[in-house]
Amino acid sequence: MFWNSLLSFKPFFLTLLFAILGFVSFGQDLLPCGTAEPNKVRFFEQKDLNLAKESLLSPTKKVPRNFMVSLHIIRSTFGSGGIKKSLVLGALNEMNETYANADIVFELCEDVHYIDNDLYIETIPSEVSGLMSNNNVDGSINIYFIPQVINGSGDGICGNATFPSTTPSHRRILMDNNCVTNGSTLIHEMGHYFGLLHTHSTSNGIEYVERVNCTSAGDRFCDTPADPRLSGSTVTNCVYVGGEVDPNGVTYVSDPSNFMSYAPKSCRINFSPDQYAHLSLIAATDNDYHLNTCDLPDFEITSSQSSEVTVSNFADLDFDLDISTLDLNSAENLEYVIKLTNAGSTATVILEEGALAFDPVNSSATLSFKLPFTEDFFSLQTILVEIDPANKITELNEENNSFSYEITHLYREDRSSFIYPNPAKDYINLYLNNQLTGEYKIRVFDDSGKMVVEHVATKNTLYGLETVDILPLVPGMYYLQFEFAQEDKEIFKFIRL
Ligand SMILES: [Zn+2]
Repeated sequence: MFWNSLLSFKPFFLTLLFAILGFVSFGQDLLPCGTAEPNKVRFFEQKDLNLAKESLLSPTKKVPRNFMVSLHIIRSTFGSGGIKKSLVLGALNEMNETYANADIVFELCEDVHYIDNDLYIETIPSEVSGLMSNNNVDGSINIYFIPQVINGSGDGICGNATFPSTTPSHRRILMDNNCVTNGSTLIHEMGHYFGLLHTHSTSNGIEYVERVNCTSAGDRFCDTPADPRLSGSTVTNCVYVGGEVDPNGVTYVSDPSNFMSYAPKSCRINFSPDQYAHLSLIAATDNDYHLNTCDLPDFEITSSQSSEVTVSNFADLDFDLDISTLDLNSAENLEYVIKLTNAGSTATVILEEGALAFDPVNSSATLSFKLPFTEDFFSLQTILVEIDPANKITELNEENNSFSYEITHLYREDRSSFIYPNPAKDYINLYLNNQLTGEYKIRVFDDSGKMVVEHVATKNTLYGLETVDILPLVPGMYYLQFEFAQEDKEIFKFIRL
């Protein structure tokens, strides 16, 4: 009760608490790992694992695969606390030493990134998506170093990772700062990130001590012994002493040295050869979408105009967007597309497509266009401008390639038809917003009542827009009338300049 009431004032309370304790842990044991094992996990046949093991041992077949990592350190809103950068880099080095055996190299793209926000000092599950959407670097492995990671039951956990099967933008590793220097938690979580299950996993059934179901149950590796779920109370001096028996009554002979076990953190020092093979195969398949170099250009589209566009008449609306580049080392032809669309993208009209040439000297450009008042425009609310829409250029950040404007159709308020512009010289437009469809006639009469223009148009949807040529008319006062077959008619007065 005391904690609950204090925690309801979370930011203040935590700031106070960390000020007093200097970011030390509460002293309670954190749960080893909060990673949820998905229902469907990729497995490889033993023959494929064996081939991968051969490659890993063969000097001529070794092709290390680089994976870019982004390291995010969470601190207080005032920028205090947070784990030391040197500790994080130390853990990255340790991880690289282990994963070299799977021909995997983790490379830090930029410097570590600090997130100064009290909200995340104690990160609970519902806060993770907000944390990621604001900070994840696309294409790299995002690792967050957090003072406290809390699971759905309110318990502190050492770490949590996503498996390869989840949506790329939802992927990350969360690390509790108190588990960064124990030598195994980051390596364990990265194991999950590359598809490894716990050695005690039962999501594929209980693995027996005798090697009778090791290809289909447990972690599905036959070179990791069956594991009843190790803990500090069943492992002494890194030896399993629990004496538990499997469903066949056979005593477990588990391996507390395996990184994917729940043995005490300092005991975990090994992956098995099959696990290394699995890591290398996932690196080349499910995780292959990750960036393998930081040396990439970036294109970004922005606008200094408001993204809220109010259309109150049909005067020209001009749009200017700025396209800038970073680290462009060669000439690139950047394609773009300007679309009118709606919220669910259920209707899309392409207004303009094209390409702009960039090179290291000409590294920025302005993209300008006018909003066309066509029939498509009337039922759509979004102008979406995208650069590199077919994703032909690999960029450091793929998330900054679009800009959208939201349109408010103010002109149609309180009226179902009107003409514009007025006065006019070359043409006049008739806008309709009514249930009438089919052919209709537009006639223009001069001041004496003589018909000077007759024009047949068709309206198929709720909205109609028709342009009438008035250039041949002499200047003066005129009347424009539209008439549907149902004899609905309306008349407008206008001036030909
Ligand atoms: Zn785990």
